[in-house]
Amino acid sequence: MSQRIDFPPQLSINDIIQALKKYSRPAEIETVLLAYEMANNAHANQRRKSGEPYIVHLLATAYILVSMKIDASIVTAAILHDVPEDTTVTIEEIEKNFGADVASMIRGVTKLGKLKYRGVERYIENLRKMFVAMAEDVRVMIIKFADRIHNLSTLQYLEPSKRQRVALESLEIYAPIAHRLGMGEFKGLLEDLAFPYMYPKEYERTIAIRDQLAQDGEGYIDRVIEVVRKELKESGINYIDLHGRKKQLYSFYQKLAKKNWEANKIYDIIALRVIIADIADCYAALGVIHKIWKPLKGRIKDYTAQPKPNGYKSLHTTVFCLDGKAVEFQIRTKEMHYEAEFGVAAHWHYDDSGIKLPAKEIQWAKEFAQIQQDILVNMADLEDLKVDFFKSRIFTFTPKGDVIDLPEDATPVDFAYHIHSEIGNKCSGAKVNDKMVSLDTALQSGDVVEIVVDKNRKTPNGEWLKSVKTHLAKSHIKNRLRANSLKDWFQSFIPTKKKKNTGG
Ligand code: MN
Repeated sequence: MSQRIDFPPQLSINDIIQALKKYSRPAEIETVLLAYEMANNAHANQRRKSGEPYIVHLLATAYILVSMKIDASIVTAAILHDVPEDTTVTIEEIEKNFGADVASMIRGVTKLGKLKYRGVERYIENLRKMFVAMAEDVRVMIIKFADRIHNLSTLQYLEPSKRQRVALESLEIYAPIAHRLGMGEFKGLLEDLAFPYMYPKEYERTIAIRDQLAQDGEGYIDRVIEVVRKELKESGINYIDLHGRKKQLYSFYQKLAKKNWEANKIYDIIALRVIIADIADCYAALGVIHKIWKPLKGRIKDYTAQPKPNGYKSLHTTVFCLDGKAVEFQIRTKEMHYEAEFGVAAHWHYDDSGIKLPAKEIQWAKEFAQIQQDILVNMADLEDLKVDFFKSRIFTFTPKGDVIDLPEDATPVDFAYHIHSEIGNKCSGAKVNDKMVSLDTALQSGDVVEIVVDKNRKTPNGEWLKSVKTHLAKSHIKNRLRANSLKDWFQSFIPTKKKKNTGG
């Protein structure tokens, strides 16, 4: 029931290559090898908190992807994903060797790595949106999920406070996004790996219930499968696969918690998947199952005709099965099955014969823009931010990694006023991504902005009003200038000693 990735002992590049050979061209495999060489050299003297050489993390990230048969170009970027941030090799060098596409994926991963969730409830929704808006490319998220899954697998080596943050972030930010993108496989792994760190007691309790159920139901699924197999055959329906579905641990816990920990109130504890070649036969199979066992009222769901918001397609029914137990059947085609496991990632996934699914032909950028927009519209249950409003926002960072969101074309002065009005008033210069820039520069999403402050500065520059974009900055600048001119005006009536003397 619990999900984990089984890494081979002494994971090496050969494990990756062997897996890639099943679905990639020799030239693609060659590129992955070159990426490995570059990463291995660049990270040569680095170690993980676990004491392992750093390269193990990159091999593990790649392994997660190849075990899901994800496209070799994504694997190439995954192996290099920590190089620009953690080594002396630059993104430009990567671009020179591996091309703009791989480099752009790595840039995306580096950007996302800067986003940190510090557990402030009211920011969750914004952060999820930010994550999606910033990723720009869904392949970046695929890499980031694999990266995070390996980090979660080795979480015990981090100090407790960091452990907590990573686990929380995975549950609250990463998993819901994976779910929204229809990536059931990633969602399950992220949740089940983070679960014991976030809710250790509930985790133990859930495991105990699961084990008890498994013990009670020993051999039950096999008996059901036998009956279904026979009936489908007699009805002349060809099925591709028939297997018991393992429920993901964390989602099982969520249901248990909702049902007062009474497992007998959960109707999909036992579930069977029937994978069938074509859609017409899916409905036929549904009829066959209903002929054998009586369906539960209100539990027949046709997600093929009306997919779930995340694109999930399947026929579902729950029946009073052998010994009167409730059993859920999920009937779907192979294509639907891949999409349910991999969601949008199915576009970069190969089936067992090494042939890409037809969906691959859909241009990812278009597809993703649609999904992105959809998420931005549908995920807002905390506030009703309009897409237009949101779409024209950019996300910038303080050097500490806190997110400052601003309207498009906002300047370092806007940024400064959003931190504090005094930072704005005393602002004298700005560094964007470590380079000095002029104060009217338009900031971009992902920029790290450092404001240079002149303590002696008394007033903002009136010229700033021409370039700032936020109401906040404008009103602060105007107020301060007005206050100063009033002060000057008043002071012009107060003869100063100096004036008096010179006048005399
Ligand atoms: Mn990493």
